[in-house]
Amino acid sequence: MGIVNSSDTISLDQLVEWLHQFSTLVNQNKGYLTDLDSAIGDADHGSNMSRGMTAVLDQLPADGPADAMFKKAGMTLVSSVGGASGPLYGTFFMRMAPALGSGNDIPAESLATALRAGLDGVISRGKAALGDKTMVDAMAPAVDAVEKSLAEGESLADATRAGAEAARGGREATIPLVARKGRASYLGERSKGHQDPGATSTTYLFEALAASLDGV
Ligand code: ADP
Ligand code: MG
Repeated sequence: MGIVNSSDTISLDQLVEWLHQFSTLVNQNKGYLTDLDSAIGDADHGSNMSRGMTAVLDQLPADGPADAMFKKAGMTLVSSVGGASGPLYGTFFMRMAPALGSGNDIPAESLATALRAGLDGVISRGKAALGDKTMVDAMAPAVDAVEKSLAEGESLADATRAGAEAARGGREATIPLVARKGRASYLGERSKGHQDPGATSTTYLFEALAASLDGV
């Protein structure tokens, strides 16, 4: 990645807040995520993500450290969600863990490294490329935007806001695409015109990260 100029940090509490905010957004939009998945999948993305994040929060180690928390969160998602999204989000969090380290204040550069490692994990596990109409279409632009913003010297709050904005753009861009990975790919051309459920939940993931840094 590029040089990070920001001297910002994200605290352990803010990382925990991120997981809570993500869980809240997933639960608030559970029906919507399921509706999206009913159009091009099997109508379980909302319940998968809701069940998974509820289990994550139930089993989260109370006091960190961050690397242990994210490893545990990832393992919980893999073991509690049957669908494709569980192992993929699980891989994302598990791969983030090493770069987060065990301190209370995680440097912006470490968070950016962790996000990149998470994305790389999702890609190596799911083998989706950009434009395959998956969560990668929101996640890759979001990680790129966070890195770019930090490299330009912006604050971590601004960088994660840019990440959320890029995720929203990637999510919208899935609508006209033909799915090439996951269940939606079984529909071929008929998957066109529908927003990808996983790109939608990934947008919540980055919106939750930005919100956690806003102290909301
Ligand atoms: P399932 O498809 O097993 O029912 P979910 O409905 O919970 O699982 O999740 C579906 C979402 O998972 C899709 O909208 C897509 O974003 C994502 N997905 C599926 N397969 C892949 C893959 N190989 N790589 C990346 N993301 C994928
Ligand atoms: Mg599904």
